[in-house]
Amino acid sequence: MKIGVVGSGFVGATAAYAMVMQGIGRQIVLVDYKPERAQAEADDIYHAVPFAEPLDIIAGDYADLHGCSIVIIAAGVGQKPGETRLQLLGRNAEVFKQVVPSILKFAPEAVLVVATNPVDIMTHLTARYAAEFGVPSSRVVGSGTTLDTARFRSLLGRHVGVDSHHVHAYVVGEHGDSEVLAWSLATVGSIQLDDFCRERGITLDAATRENIDQNVRKAAYHIIAGKGATYYGIGSALARIVDVILHDQRAIMTVCTPLEEIAGVKDVTISVPKLLGGQGVIDAFPLPLNDDEQAKLHASAALIRKMIDDLDAQ
Ligand code: ADP
Repeated sequence: MKIGVVGSGFVGATAAYAMVMQGIGRQIVLVDYKPERAQAEADDIYHAVPFAEPLDIIAGDYADLHGCSIVIIAAGVGQKPGETRLQLLGRNAEVFKQVVPSILKFAPEAVLVVATNPVDIMTHLTARYAAEFGVPSSRVVGSGTTLDTARFRSLLGRHVGVDSHHVHAYVVGEHGDSEVLAWSLATVGSIQLDDFCRERGITLDAATRENIDQNVRKAAYHIIAGKGATYYGIGSALARIVDVILHDQRAIMTVCTPLEEIAGVKDVTISVPKLLGGQGVIDAFPLPLNDDEQAKLHASAALIRKMIDDLDAQ
């Protein structure tokens, strides 16, 4: 029950903290390009253990990942002033070219959970690099729209006055601006969202939908504007993904993994609901979206595919 975290910045360290708070795993190893950062985060989180669950958390190097069943990859470089998105992507691709083989050298059986943004593309690249070590793409799981789905459910839950655990609604596609909120399939306690609202006199007009849509789609922008980074939500999502894999829970989550084809786009990595278990992704469930949502999903998948093509052409 050993979990590795490579890249112990805001996101990696918060995922580790969430795992300690919830007692997920037995030992966590933090690895970072800056060892002093990993050590500081490990020490800080370890001091929370007496108030939480009995886990050990240490800083280490790649060799210390030996025996890890899951490794979270949250390593990445920040955007330099004037740098384009594609240039940033190119630098993060270089980071992953080094990080993925280093992990697999010492933890060849691990499920890789990718968190670095743009997560769809970084997951695609991770699967590509891991394939050179014989790792099937099902063992590479990106956090994808797990958090967006959680945001959608929480906002819908608040709007209809029902605990979000009883709201079923998914965000699919890119983790980013082109993501698709699957409104047509949303249910509350198994009742179609539209029916639920109509029967109870709850407003669900275009303005309400747009407001919720923007608060899901643009959440990261607002949070970054207010505090510089987002990490609690994604850290908790990563802890949940690890828990599902570690305990083979067969949960359905909107993680991203390479897909042979989705919405008419071939060989692309975006999120659709996936059945997740002990070995990673077991199955994918493309949703019966309406025509408008399906067209948006196609556009989202095509956008990611184009970014992969542009990166490869660099
Ligand atoms: P985020 O908010 O996405 O977590 P951070 O910059 O806080 O962003 O964290 C990214 C972390 O990734 C940093 O601690 C950085 O040192 C680390 N990192 C960058 N490159 C590498 C690498 N090649 N190997 C391991 N860690 C890396």
